[in-house]
Amino acid sequence: MATRFVHCLIFYAFCQIITGFIWTPEKGQLKHEERIQRVPKERVTARKIEQFFIQNGRRHRRNIDPPEYDVVLVVDASNSIRPHDFHRGIKALQTLIDKADPNTHYAGIVYSNKATVAFDFTDLRTAKHYLRTRVRFIGEKTNTQDAFLKCRTKLFQNKNSNLRPRAKKRVLLLTDGSSNMHIHLTLYRAFQLKILGVEIFAIGVGNYMPGIQELVGIASSTDKHLYRVRSVLSLLDIVRLIPPWRYMHQHQLPWLTDRYNQEYDDINT
Ligand SMILES: [Mg+2]
Repeated sequence: MATRFVHCLIFYAFCQIITGFIWTPEKGQLKHEERIQRVPKERVTARKIEQFFIQNGRRHRRNIDPPEYDVVLVVDASNSIRPHDFHRGIKALQTLIDKADPNTHYAGIVYSNKATVAFDFTDLRTAKHYLRTRVRFIGEKTNTQDAFLKCRTKLFQNKNSNLRPRAKKRVLLLTDGSSNMHIHLTLYRAFQLKILGVEIFAIGVGNYMPGIQELVGIASSTDKHLYRVRSVLSLLDIVRLIPPWRYMHQHQLPWLTDRYNQEYDDINT
């Protein structure tokens, strides 16, 4: 009897140790949800966009045949966004196009209840013009899966969309949160794009985003492809912080390197 009691005690202690070892979070480590919800400082996000969306994470190898990119700009025009914030978002995208590699081509999709292709792949000047003239606010529900579907069928898999055969394929999604039409299809449609070799970047607007988990699933990664901004005004400030393309490779210049560095380290903390 006594030995059985001792055995039970040892087994209980063993379980305590094992489960404690597995379940106790490490000190100082934020929970996943909290870490994703936290909006980084503007300089940090500007640096991240510059490094991963514009320079593609390899600034030291620019002489080895630089790849060209064909980017689809997917813009959320649902009723959760105020019209003047929508237009600020468009302005931010135009500024971002100005800062990026001039050899990049862009197409545009705007979506709410359903998605429409605003323009096929074209050079940056025409894309900026079309963003101003063809992308209109809609103000209905949020049908993100339809945007991804049109993106795949009407742009990336369509021979008449002016997609350059050697270009790398990308999507830049600008949204304020989760979809509310055919929700079960959203991640599946994003996955269908990813298996075509499309990289999906997402800009999530809002201080606290209830639908952040969906955006985490949509973006190709959380450290390189997901950008959080407090508001569209903040996004405008962020894209203005990014240095112009022609100066971007002159990183030996101290006034450019010192511009963000002191706060860059807390991206991965
Ligand atoms: Mg919405």
